[in-house]
Amino acid sequence: MVVAIDGPAGAGKSSVARAVAAALGFTYLDSGAMYRCVGLAAFERGAEPAEVAGEVRIELGERILLDGRDVTDAIRTPEASEAASRAAADPVVRRALVTQQQRIVADGDWVAEGRDIGTVVAPDAAVKVFLTASPEERARRRAVQIGADVATVLAEQTIRDERDTTREHDPLAAADDAVALDTTGLSLEDVVARVTALVAE
Ligand code: C5P
Repeated sequence: MVVAIDGPAGAGKSSVARAVAAALGFTYLDSGAMYRCVGLAAFERGAEPAEVAGEVRIELGERILLDGRDVTDAIRTPEASEAASRAAADPVVRRALVTQQQRIVADGDWVAEGRDIGTVVAPDAAVKVFLTASPEERARRRAVQIGADVATVLAEQTIRDERDTTREHDPLAAADDAVALDTTGLSLEDVVARVTALVAE
């Protein structure tokens, strides 16, 4: 079964998805890490993301491997975030990665996190959650995570949000059957409890 957790950057998806997966004994799929790998590979090779998307070998887990190289930290830099956002705007890249993601979640129990899990990757997911938080709260969380200043993160986040909402599949749009959950002011434990309760329903 698939638990789909979608929402914009900084809504708390990664922390929530990891914790929910641990609580349920499911496997965690970080689809954003795949876009980050394609973005990083394109950036490093000076190639178009669409060219590298079908070639790179991405291994997900405790550590993220790109063609066998540990890129767990390299894909989290601001440059890699920007490259990932650009790669994700290309429909060719999206088709390649969505196909891989659909193969991954076809077997077993998954908590899959991203932007389009409930709408495109796993439209039949048993549970769909759309996490949101105010732009300021999202930027604040992200700034703490990456050790940057809130105003800069907020400015970059606004640009990425705009790019995200103006492409083919608006990834900031929730699936019609997703449960919307605003995490502003909620603790991680609160959010995890609410999501796991949905799975038990
Ligand atoms: O979630 P994360 O910040 O790691 O995502 C990296 C980039 O990949 C973001 O720009 C996001 O818009 C994009 N992405 C996407 N679809 C997904 C997951 C991430 O377009 N399912």
